[in-house]
Amino acid sequence: MRNKETIKKPDKPSITDQNAREKSSDTRPKNNDFCVHILDNLPGIAYRCLIDQHWTMLFVSEGARDLTGYEPADFIENATVSYNDIIHPDDRERVRMKVDEIMDKQKHRSFEYRIVTKSGETKWVWEQAVRVKGDNGTECLDGIVLDITDRIHLNQALRLEQQRLGRVVDSTADIIFEIDNKKRFVSVYGKGLEHIGLKSEDFTNKTVIDIFGPDEGSPRHQAYQKALEGETVHYDWTHRHNDQTLYFSSSLSPIINMKGRVVGAVGIAREVTEQKRHQQHIERLSYRDQLTGAYNRYYLYESIEREMSLADRYREALSMITFDIDIFKRINDDYGHAVGDEALKNLTFTVTHMIRKSDILFRTGGEEFVLVLPKTSQRAAMKLAERIRQALAMCTHHPYGTLTCSFGVASRLPGESFDAWWKRGDQAMYQGKRHGGNCVQAANEARKTT
Ligand code: GH3
Ligand code: MG
Ligand code: MG
Repeated sequence: MRNKETIKKPDKPSITDQNAREKSSDTRPKNNDFCVHILDNLPGIAYRCLIDQHWTMLFVSEGARDLTGYEPADFIENATVSYNDIIHPDDRERVRMKVDEIMDKQKHRSFEYRIVTKSGETKWVWEQAVRVKGDNGTECLDGIVLDITDRIHLNQALRLEQQRLGRVVDSTADIIFEIDNKKRFVSVYGKGLEHIGLKSEDFTNKTVIDIFGPDEGSPRHQAYQKALEGETVHYDWTHRHNDQTLYFSSSLSPIINMKGRVVGAVGIAREVTEQKRHQQHIERLSYRDQLTGAYNRYYLYESIEREMSLADRYREALSMITFDIDIFKRINDDYGHAVGDEALKNLTFTVTHMIRKSDILFRTGGEEFVLVLPKTSQRAAMKLAERIRQALAMCTHHPYGTLTCSFGVASRLPGESFDAWWKRGDQAMYQGKRHGGNCVQAANEARKTT
């Protein structure tokens, strides 16, 4: 027997019963068997119980078997088990409080809790109950209880997965970000944010312009533009933080929706300041002479073609001063190689501070240098060479005193090859050396055929 209280019309219908009846149409059969049949075929439990400490059941539908493992009759008047017994002990208090609310507010309420089935399995259920008057006017609860274990487990798994993903993204040393198609930040994560002194919250409701300023034409701006047109792009950018320039390398890919439309972009930014400095150092090593810091012979060959073609294109003068330290061997011999090194550095320092930004100083050999002077005539180059000669001859350094140089000055002739031009400068310089050194000699302008 699973029905203590006959499911016949209650003597005194509750407000809810009356409302329900008023809403029902005349075609609805008022037949108890029919109602019980429907209730029995519902998944979960439909019930009526007393509001006592056991939730003593007066009616329990057939679905109780599937849900709890007990026969519906087992619950009726707590025949073998009370409904309170199968509520998970940790949830009993909460269920009771919910029922108190139902009693107070006179409204139906839904709530979720765990039950323990006959076989000991814990299931999550959703219950909706309403206060009614049963036979003899007794206060009862009518309700349904549905199995939601799968949904709860799915939600838990989803939450765990979200937390796991969140941890992964938050732990990355990079910055991971998403923008919408209005270039507004949707989310920004990653430890890399610490490098630029910002937090995820700082990007809330902010556009790229709000954060980085109006930077049209910048690599970042162009990259965002292209990504929102559907392209995956890689770009480099810099950011000033704590008086330091930080270098970043980023990639940005479009986010495409089900209809094939670009709705935003997802990007990853990696701080590469260390690598950038290393790369700059390597570049410096390959272009600069390590002792003096002047450009090296390799870079002279690298850069001279560009200088020559610029001069040709704009029909501008291009001059060269070739110079070599006079009897430098003496300094090494008298004071040692280290002092010789120091003398080379001192000379480079002096010359570097006498030339324009566009002039380029090369150390082409041991104590031989070349100065390339864009937009400079032979006359101006001669003047500069003379000024340098005098400055060097006047500079006194401990312990070697002064050193002098011999200078050859050659302005490039139209269409002249670099080798021919340099040779003329060199020859002028050696001519000066033959006359005792410490002098400036203009190159012969006659073209050599050899
Ligand atoms: P000249 O007036 O004919 O140019 O005589 P010089 O002694 O300057 O020329 P020479 O070619 O006979 O000697 C060049 C010297 O420069 C010899 C070499 O030891 C020295 N030298 C070249 N490179 C370096 C360097 O990097 N450091 C030092 N300390 N000496 C160098
Ligand atoms: Mg020399
Ligand atoms: Mg020499």
